[in-house]
Amino acid sequence: MPSGLIVKALSGYYYVLPEDDEGMVPVQCRARGIFKKRGETPLVGDRVVYELTENGEGTVDEILPRSSELIRPQVANVELVVLVFAVQEPALNLQLLDKFLVHTENAGLETIICLTKQDLIESGEPASDGAELSMTEAYSSFCASDNLEPMNAIVHLYESIGYQVVVTSAKLGIGIEPVLQRLSGHISVFAGQSGVGKSSLLNAMVPGLQLETNQISMKLGRGKHTTRHVELIRLQNGGLVADTPGFSQLDFAQIGAAEELSACFKEFQQLAESCKFRGCLHQHEPGCKVIEAKEQGRIAESRYEHYLYFLTEIKERKRRY
Ligand code: GDP
Ligand code: ZN
Repeated sequence: MPSGLIVKALSGYYYVLPEDDEGMVPVQCRARGIFKKRGETPLVGDRVVYELTENGEGTVDEILPRSSELIRPQVANVELVVLVFAVQEPALNLQLLDKFLVHTENAGLETIICLTKQDLIESGEPASDGAELSMTEAYSSFCASDNLEPMNAIVHLYESIGYQVVVTSAKLGIGIEPVLQRLSGHISVFAGQSGVGKSSLLNAMVPGLQLETNQISMKLGRGKHTTRHVELIRLQNGGLVADTPGFSQLDFAQIGAAEELSACFKEFQQLAESCKFRGCLHQHEPGCKVIEAKEQGRIAESRYEHYLYFLTEIKERKRRY
């Protein structure tokens, strides 16, 4: 029986892209009743075995094992998250960037960081609200000491941790190709605040795609909300991207214990193994290798500061629930 991938689910139908079909025309399928009995639902992103019926439609017979399952948007087998942050408009918020990274690390997904609207810096135009790159004081001094421009410092910092960082401008068509290449062969989701340019970036990557882009609401400093049905957009190189952004809720609900947070900071991981105390939370424990690395400048102060901040948030959460 043929196999394929669900690219869309709507009104009880699943649209399955045949695995071996060059024409890339999805087959409209119903799911077998057995799934309902078992309490299973096929999801967008699922690899499935299906059977063609006489009317050119099909029936989903079997869901192949999933490697991951995102809740928002509900997509199976996502492997890669593109974290989208504008260099300006809205101002780049490093704490939010680190928060997103904690969530993608915790979900076990690969992440690339995409900095958008590079043209706003190049052109020297001030942001319309007069805002400069917003960053913690500690981080500004990090930039100053390395004599780096803020944007380059951010690229440098996250690359040194091990993330791919791509600087883009959808407006000028800059940096689109490297992102496109990275998406090849994967199911991906974009994530990031409203108004950072996610839709514009996708539109720039897919010829003919016309996702609605929102004007930033100046009053609220964020874009309008639109809810849509999740669908996978096919890229020419075989990549698939969800048309709905992921990780809209960043409340640490998925983090079971405070100790798990440190594992979501990639550059802490190895050091944490050598901390004097097992279960060290790297706050003020003696013999803490993370604190030592921070004091020696091997861990960025901004990252450490955000770690402590999130730790407090997680502890508060545990106390409340
Ligand atoms: P989304 O909410 O993250 O999907 O962001 P949109 O793609 O809707 O973009 C939000 C606003 O930013 C729109 O007004 C876009 O025109 C603008 N925008 C997007 N990309 C760029 C860019 O590369 N440069 C500039 N200057 N503006 C951009
Ligand atoms: Zn420690």
